[in-house]
Amino acid sequence: MTTILVVEDEPGISSFLSKGLTAAGYQVTVVDTGREAIKEVLSGGYSLMVLDIGLPDTDGFEVLEQVRGQGSKLPIIVLTARSSVEDTVSGLEGGADDYMPKPFRFEELLARIRLRLKSSNTDDAAAVTLLNVGGLRLDLRTRRASVDGTPIELSSREFTMLQAFMEHSDQVLSRAQLLDMVWGYDFDPGSNVVDVYVRYLRRKIGADRIATVRGMGYRLVVR
Ligand code: CA
Repeated sequence: MTTILVVEDEPGISSFLSKGLTAAGYQVTVVDTGREAIKEVLSGGYSLMVLDIGLPDTDGFEVLEQVRGQGSKLPIIVLTARSSVEDTVSGLEGGADDYMPKPFRFEELLARIRLRLKSSNTDDAAAVTLLNVGGLRLDLRTRRASVDGTPIELSSREFTMLQAFMEHSDQVLSRAQLLDMVWGYDFDPGSNVVDVYVRYLRRKIGADRIATVRGMGYRLVVR
């Protein structure tokens, strides 16, 4: 269930929003002060916040600053009086994703809510879990790997090393960088563990896909 937090101190507007969003299939929590809004956001469990700027205690800008300052990435749509749209636009830099001047048609707000929810979902699904570089594909969620569509078996270290190459596909990675990214600590610099794993990886993904850059390290070859 998608839960939306509505922060609005005018009872007429908040009950209108609450009814409309509930009818659209969302679960809705309404609060009417900035302080409560901050508390609710930080307690988690919401998919989006509709935030009025004019609130009786702290205003919406302060709420934005506080929740973004605490690291919340919650999608936020700000409601504002039409006369203060300019202030609001500058307030967007304070962390809102979108704004809606009052008065607004409910359908218009609903469309923006759907859009925001959709883009925050696809961001998660596409950006964080799948890497695609020149025929190589890694699914970070299922830990599956394939080369030109053919699945390959990688050990955990091999997987992490390939991930490091793919996330830096235009760079030469030194042995020290690879040690740090794959093993995560200072390995004996005299160790040849990186070279050993590059050899393993070449055997599985094709020798010509990792180039040796003499005196510097290794680079993924993107074709
Ligand atoms: Ca208000």
